[in-house]
Amino acid sequence: MINIVIFGAPGAGKGTQAKLLAEKYDFLHISTGDLLRQEVAAGTPLGQRAQAIMNRGDLVGDDIVVALLARALANRSTLPNPDASIDPWDRERKGEPHRPEGCIIDGFPRTVQQAQTLEFLFGKLQRKIDCVVAIDVPRDELVHRIHERAAISGRADDTEEVIRHRIELYDLQTQPVLDYYRVSGLLVTVDGSGEIAETNTRICQTLERLMKL
Ligand code: AMP
Repeated sequence: MINIVIFGAPGAGKGTQAKLLAEKYDFLHISTGDLLRQEVAAGTPLGQRAQAIMNRGDLVGDDIVVALLARALANRSTLPNPDASIDPWDRERKGEPHRPEGCIIDGFPRTVQQAQTLEFLFGKLQRKIDCVVAIDVPRDELVHRIHERAAISGRADDTEEVIRHRIELYDLQTQPVLDYYRVSGLLVTVDGSGEIAETNTRICQTLERLMKL
């Protein structure tokens, strides 16, 4: 099982890239932002607690986010793999590539404390993080992209003021996570300044080189 964390500032395109990677490698995509938005849309008590915090662009409390993440990770490890009924040798006989199982985590960790929590959660499942891919986009371009996204996304947290706040929080609380993973030797940085497809090619080449995907 391969576990990849995808990392980037608001507007860096981590959600888009995580989706593309999950499709290409048939990995599970776990986005804490999506998990939270699902709870909000379903009007659950958890979603109701998270909604106002998300609309302000603040970080939702670890009690909520960690509970959602732990549930998503546990589902994958305890439920039968949807592909488990397919004999890998049969796939190879048919000329289909057999990919290792994996998951891509997007939006978590956003603090050093969350990075430590992720290690703990993975440890309990006898899993580990194999690689952290940081998508690097110059600040000017981030702001430009975010303005474009704000015009079309319809997300309550994509207004100019809230986005500025989310970037501030990123600098203050999330950026230190990069150093945390740099020290542990898991960090790879990929240039994310170009088109979506270019960035995707760079990430895939990096992962294939590092992990023989
Ligand atoms: P995203 O879709 O990753 O941009 O996340 C949208 C919003 O969900 C963030 O601005 C936070 O309010 C909340 N959120 C997502 N992931 C986390 C996390 N790991 N910790 C705290 N809040 C989070």
